[in-house]
Amino acid sequence: MNTPHEMDVLVVGAGPSGVAAAVMAASLNLRTVVVEADSVGGKLHVIGALENVPGNWSTGPQLAEALAADLDRLQQADRCSIVQGHATRVSGYDDRAELVLEDGRVLSAQLIVVATGVAALAPPDADWISAPARMSVPPLWRTNPADLAGRTYVLGGDRPLGTWLRTHPNCSTTLHVLCPPADDYKIAEVAGDDRVRIAPVSHVVLSPMTYGDEWSLQVKDRQGERKSYVVKTLLNNLGNKPAGLEGLASSEDGYCPPGKQHPRIRVAGDLRSAQFQRVTTAQGSGAEAVLASYYASVLKPC
Ligand SMILES: Cc1cc2nc3c(=O)[nH]c(=O)nc-3n(C[C@H](O)[C@H](O)[C@H](O)COP(=O)(O)OP(=O)(O)OC[C@H]3O[C@@H](n4cnc5c(N)ncnc54)[C@H](O)[C@@H]3O)c2cc1C
Repeated sequence: MNTPHEMDVLVVGAGPSGVAAAVMAASLNLRTVVVEADSVGGKLHVIGALENVPGNWSTGPQLAEALAADLDRLQQADRCSIVQGHATRVSGYDDRAELVLEDGRVLSAQLIVVATGVAALAPPDADWISAPARMSVPPLWRTNPADLAGRTYVLGGDRPLGTWLRTHPNCSTTLHVLCPPADDYKIAEVAGDDRVRIAPVSHVVLSPMTYGDEWSLQVKDRQGERKSYVVKTLLNNLGNKPAGLEGLASSEDGYCPPGKQHPRIRVAGDLRSAQFQRVTTAQGSGAEAVLASYYASVLKPC
């Protein structure tokens, strides 16, 4: 197998978009390396019920396993290799692109596809929440219905809400979802579920109670009316922030539009924008990132 610095294509991130990019690159006989910080499959590992991905997959982990098998097969055929590592910086030059890893390694290739996805927002990151720095709240998508106690509040109306409800069809707990205006367009998909009560809010002040494991919430609704609650169960469903690398061009919202990047750097999957964050769009954009460079003659097979 070639050493990583002799690669044609470096793919950063082995979620659905990175794996699609790697499979496409290998199919074009391009020497391919995938750099992954954690495990193959990315966010698929947290999707308990998958209903919008063709191929008869019913859960994300099933599909993640199949993607890992694809990469294994390519590795065994000496058409792709996987490097375990955390990428920090990417740079584009006339004749190559370079990737720097946290441990100091520098890898170079004709093309780098960055498919690092998004990372979870914490309450202090959200502009509609005032909360102590470093405060964390358990994520909704990891919550077992059996652990819900008392009235249950959810911070934010991001899409994992719909996935969670589909994953737990027999859970009858009512979820009180504090929804900022920016999440209105996402909440439509759960509007028909009678286990969800939407509370449209403009601002929330959040603090842990001094004693016990409860939370104090001061909620301002969209008409400016304020209410205070002490709640036992509070869950994070705030959404994500882009997990880009240093050296990528980004928009004001932190996402990294493909069209803004150096010709030897392509962005694929969730990292492109807050919209279109789906498994199949991630896969399509990963494959397209490689093909677009191939046909633009950025890639020259040796
Ligand atoms: C709870 C939940 C439920 C969802 N439900 C659905 C659903 O039902 N249907 C649907 O279509 N979509 C769903 N999604 C969205 C879907 O998971 C994403 O759109 C998709 O996984 C995006 O793929 P990606 O490859 O862009 O990123 P990811 O899947 O996030 O993969 C990114 C990969 O990059 C790696 N990485 C990150 N940073 C670095 C770095 N610096 N160096 C090296 N590697 C790095 C990560 O470890 C990860 O493996 C859901 C998401 C969540 C969180």
